[in-house]
Amino acid sequence: MPIDAKAPYDPANIFARIIRGELPNRTVLETEHSLAFHDINPLAPIHVLVIPKGNYVSWDDFTEKASEAEITDFVRAVGQVARMTGADAQGYRLLSNVGKRGGQEVPHLHVHVFGGQPLGPMLA
Ligand code: C5P
Repeated sequence: MPIDAKAPYDPANIFARIIRGELPNRTVLETEHSLAFHDINPLAPIHVLVIPKGNYVSWDDFTEKASEAEITDFVRAVGQVARMTGADAQGYRLLSNVGKRGGQEVPHLHVHVFGGQPLGPMLA
């Protein structure tokens, strides 16, 4: 069920629990402000999620409220994941679903990194 991106942050959401170490994940990269891990239900040979460690529901409040340090760290982490996974070799896709119409399911900002195959017009 897609979430309301304007709702208050829910610290019980699944990605918050991953950040706190309460749930396992297959980590690709951890930086001061970001975490990247393999999607549990991959839709492409490379499918990694990059999330900020701070409490941001979506791209909306992240870009409004996050510090310059958090934003820089996050954007660099996304690029680093593309390079670390080899997705950059032949091209890849970045995607962030936002809110109900965007089809966002988990109420903690995440950017999907897809790669490893030719990608159709839409994914996730
Ligand atoms: O963008 P959206 O919110 O729809 O995507 C959520 C993503 O989180 C899905 O691709 C889902 O497979 C992934 N997920 C995960 N690990 C979980 C729960 C969800 O990788 N424990």
